[in-house]
Amino acid sequence: MADTSDVVIIGGGAAGCATAYYLAKRGIKSTVIERDGIASKASGFSAGLLNPLQGERVPGPLAPLALKSFRMHQEIWPELLESGVDFEPQIISGVTVAYDDSAIAEMEETHKLFSEADDDFHATWLDADQIQEMEPRLSPGAVRGIDAYGNATLSSYRYVLALAQTIEKMGAIIRSSNAVGIKTDGSRITSVILETGEIECDSVVFAVGPWSNQAESWLNIKIPVEPLKGEMLRMAPPNNIPLERDYLGFGVTLNHREDDQVWIGSTQLSRGFDENPSAEARDILMGGALKLMPSLADCELVLHTACLRPVTPDWLPIVGLAPGWDNAYLATGAGKKGILLSPGMGEAVAGMVAGGSLAPDMERFKIDRFMD
Ligand SMILES: Cc1cc2nc3c(=O)[nH]c(=O)nc-3n(C[C@H](O)[C@H](O)[C@H](O)COP(=O)(O)OP(=O)(O)OC[C@H]3O[C@@H](n4cnc5c(N)ncnc54)[C@H](O)[C@@H]3O)c2cc1C
Repeated sequence: MADTSDVVIIGGGAAGCATAYYLAKRGIKSTVIERDGIASKASGFSAGLLNPLQGERVPGPLAPLALKSFRMHQEIWPELLESGVDFEPQIISGVTVAYDDSAIAEMEETHKLFSEADDDFHATWLDADQIQEMEPRLSPGAVRGIDAYGNATLSSYRYVLALAQTIEKMGAIIRSSNAVGIKTDGSRITSVILETGEIECDSVVFAVGPWSNQAESWLNIKIPVEPLKGEMLRMAPPNNIPLERDYLGFGVTLNHREDDQVWIGSTQLSRGFDENPSAEARDILMGGALKLMPSLADCELVLHTACLRPVTPDWLPIVGLAPGWDNAYLATGAGKKGILLSPGMGEAVAGMVAGGSLAPDMERFKIDRFMD
């Protein structure tokens, strides 16, 4: 006999677990189906930077959702931390360092954005001496820097784990299995078929990240989400002294992250569904990092990660009802900002599942925009 659940969420990444969280807040029980382990894909290996002011389509059409999600993160962190999983959320400074004039225009843009945003953000210009004093391990010879304060960071793996533990306490079920199909009755999905069983349900949320195309034949719609491979290196810090800020220069970022490691990020390469760490990416990342902080040459490479961002043609996420269906919802395509956007996306989908309509400010993220 099939199991039952009010809602089945396929995908245990940031999008799926955040959706389950906001459903649980509404008293709706869900079952999250994950085939590889919670946050075992991009959600567990991101840089964990929450920057609501800059990025693809920010400023631009993604800006309101980015800022709203940034605030939502800060609202839910205290509750998630009660799970006992410390995902180390903190507000940080990111310092961009220029060694010639080529990056100055971008830095002026950063200065403007952080200065014009609300009081939680600010930016300060740095001269060569100030940069060297702030972080003597950086290469000498910088001409200018900018210290942009107000973004947040967290361990994205532990953040999703905290979400998972919180939703389980609230009654959600996390089930390890591969979803392989659906059963339907007209325009309704009646159950999700797993490799290890079947779950009858009232609604289904597809939060399957870069693997969204597998649902195309189930739903008979085109879901334009492609994988964009991203690799990062995790290094022991030079002289065993952790970084105090994030540093950007020579096309890489050096982040102070879990276990006091220095994370070097990140590449963006279209390599289909290949998730293997590559020598190509290691050389790109190491090349930039050693120019920015030469002493990293003496440090141990602790881990090299590779995973896939779910990217849409217009760099905006896909949120909302699947066309032609009464109870199939999509939460995918968050690209390079899926950790930041997860509360906003999850809340929007949960609201719809609960019987509401998509908020007007989320209308632009409907998949219908690609239907022509
Ligand atoms: C190098 C790198 C750095 C990044 N840095 C940042 C950052 O600093 N800030 C930020 O906000 N974002 C960042 N991102 C982007 C972010 O990681 C992604 O946007 C986000 O993790 C996507 O989450 P998701 O839940 O949509 O997808 P995923 O994390 O891919 O989760 C989808 C899940 O669905 C599961 N699944 C798929 N099909 C099935 C099935 N049939 N049955 C069961 N389970 C299934 C998969 O196993 C997977 O666990 C970064 C990404 C990369 C690669």
